[in-house]
Amino acid sequence: MKKIFIKDLNTPVQFIKGIGPKRAEAFSKKSINTVYDLIYYFPFDYLDLTEVSRISDLKKINDISKNVSVIGTVRSIDITGRPPKRQCIIILGDDSGVIPLVFFQNINYFKTAYKIGDTLAVSGKLNYFMNKVQIVHPRIDRIDINEKPTEANLINTKGLIPKYSMCEEFRNARITDTALRKILHYVVNEYVPLIEDFLPEYIIKENSLLSLQDALRKVHFPKTTEEKNSARIRLKFDEWFLFQLMLALRRRFLKVQLPGIPFNVKSSLARKLVDSLSFKLTKAQIRVIKEIADDMQSPKPMNRLLQGDVGSGKTIVALISMLIAVENNYQVAFMAPTEILAEQHYRTITQFLNDLNLNVRLLLGAQKRSFKESILNEIKTGNANIVIGTHALIQERIEFANLGLVIIDEQHRFGVEQRAELMKKAKESIKIQPDVLVMTATPIPRTLSLTVYGDLDVSIIDELPKDRKPVKTLLYSESETGKLYQFIRNIIDMGQQVYIIYPLIEESEKMDLKAAVESYEKFQKEIFPDLNIGLIHGRMSAEERDQVMKAFKENKINILVSTTVIEVGIDIPNATMMVIEHAERFGLSQLHQLRGRVGRGAEQSYCILVAPNWLVNKVRKKNLKYEISNDYNFNDNNELEEQKAIIRIQAMLSTNDGFKISEIDLKLRGPGDFFGTRQSGLPEFNIANVLEDGNLINLARKIAFKVIETDPQLRKDEHRLIRKIFLERMKDKFDLIQVG
Ligand code: ADP
Ligand code: MG
Repeated sequence: MKKIFIKDLNTPVQFIKGIGPKRAEAFSKKSINTVYDLIYYFPFDYLDLTEVSRISDLKKINDISKNVSVIGTVRSIDITGRPPKRQCIIILGDDSGVIPLVFFQNINYFKTAYKIGDTLAVSGKLNYFMNKVQIVHPRIDRIDINEKPTEANLINTKGLIPKYSMCEEFRNARITDTALRKILHYVVNEYVPLIEDFLPEYIIKENSLLSLQDALRKVHFPKTTEEKNSARIRLKFDEWFLFQLMLALRRRFLKVQLPGIPFNVKSSLARKLVDSLSFKLTKAQIRVIKEIADDMQSPKPMNRLLQGDVGSGKTIVALISMLIAVENNYQVAFMAPTEILAEQHYRTITQFLNDLNLNVRLLLGAQKRSFKESILNEIKTGNANIVIGTHALIQERIEFANLGLVIIDEQHRFGVEQRAELMKKAKESIKIQPDVLVMTATPIPRTLSLTVYGDLDVSIIDELPKDRKPVKTLLYSESETGKLYQFIRNIIDMGQQVYIIYPLIEESEKMDLKAAVESYEKFQKEIFPDLNIGLIHGRMSAEERDQVMKAFKENKINILVSTTVIEVGIDIPNATMMVIEHAERFGLSQLHQLRGRVGRGAEQSYCILVAPNWLVNKVRKKNLKYEISNDYNFNDNNELEEQKAIIRIQAMLSTNDGFKISEIDLKLRGPGDFFGTRQSGLPEFNIANVLEDGNLINLARKIAFKVIETDPQLRKDEHRLIRKIFLERMKDKFDLIQVG
């Protein structure tokens, strides 16, 4: 009996009523091959027709806070008024009357988006203008041209109509909205009863979840909003549960299966370092040092993420843990995302450790061969105590004598795989698991760190050193350069220094580089001929860059013109002004990172964003609040990009808080782009959404971790199906461990 079952859900879609080879081919473009895939092709949205009004009845509605829906055809489309009062008016009519739909924004889009005769389902709030009802910026859904909204083709529900994501191939195979709804209606009725619920009764009951069958039916054809919501909750839960199960297993594996190093954390080296500092550690630094030391002392391997905004002082925290490892006769690998940063860490660390007589080594890709060989040899013999480098550190040839601690700086640039690779390397060299500390300056919301770094413990430095004044952020337009140059001059007259950053992106690298070089020449020859101007960019050799940076650090250069190669981690307290040209071209987190290069000393620092006049004018128009909202139609891509640029600039002007900045950035870019999907280790979810599911993520996490705690191999009968589905769905993401 069972066998037939499974075979049925695996039936190729081609054999389903209404689907032939041609449509099957189209479905395969969306990775829909079997009946099962089809059932899991969830609507991305629903058309709410629970309360469709006749247009003539709208006048009787007095409550203007209420949402109304109407269905009608487009009678006319017109543009009226002059800028800035231009508007697009679409007249919509049904058999009872007509109503104007009014658009103030994205006018050019709405002018051409619909044609006379199109059937639209429209919802929004009523608005009275000169005693007549209208709807401003309604939500609009176009209904298939040859699809009259009759009950028959809206499929057995007057309530919520599922909307499925469509593509060119679907259209070519005549898979219309209506056709797809019909197919799904059939498949859901016939095949959902074959699906087994993998969640045990106790999890479903305790958390008031829908049964899987119920949820699958209702996600496609809900009668009410409540039905839709509870169906989606169950299905999102499933995805988070399986994902957290993987994290729980991975973490268990790291913690339990491999022995770690029980370091003695009473370190006289660390004590000496702290005593020699010219500043006092912040409370937050002391707290996270304690968290790290506790981990290091424990015989279980450390897997910890250290989060802290730019300038919060992560380096010194890392250094203290390095000294603990070194004092226990273990080696430390410190990995930075770029050579420049590795070099800087090397310089800072050797300075800090000046009196401690340790062997600190810098390993880079571009080093002379013989020199490199000698370093590799020192690493192999255990002569080198601390090795700083880039990903060169995970090259095959490197052998450590006894690697005990791995520190990875600015983790968001490294992938999960690279981290795993380093751990493997460490294991090979010492047959036990080294402690791992990952540092990141991208603060992410806590629920997110549980998803993205769910197999790590998290420490947060949520406090900047006391002597810091917050950086003042100002916006200048391109026509205000006179004022800007005067400001720069004032800063330099006070003996301080200035960065001027130009954007450089791959697609226009040559032109961008040219712009930076030309500006440098202009500054040196025309604008500030009496000052020393430096130039630094990615095309220079490491030595050349080094020389310029050194001169800047020694205040021999007043103004440093640069492309974004100095993006992260550079630490020069006397540089108090950061000018960012074409600020509109930078990402938000990147802008914030750049701002973090200043404000590192006791003086007031400034971040000047320079942007085109039109953008500056828009930002300066008070009351104009731009927000990214899901209801808003941003079909015009340019307009969307403009809007986003404005939001980025406004965010920079309104807050210095790295957590807020990263939340906004995450919203603007979406999780895939924000983390880089492949890098983050986040799978591509079907229905789960990292931005919306905060509570559900925590719930799923709690339950998944408990399941693994009580039944680590999923051997109990009640967990049998979890095991099965987990192995089926998560196997390829499950690199480090096997379920026993
Ligand atoms: P980030 O967290 O961005 O890596 P750094 O570790 O580079 O920050 O620290 C920024 C600067 O602040 C460095 O010059 C560092 O020496 C200094 N610093 C670190 N901790 C403190 C503190 N408690 N008080 C004052 N300055 C500190
Ligand atoms: Mg740093």
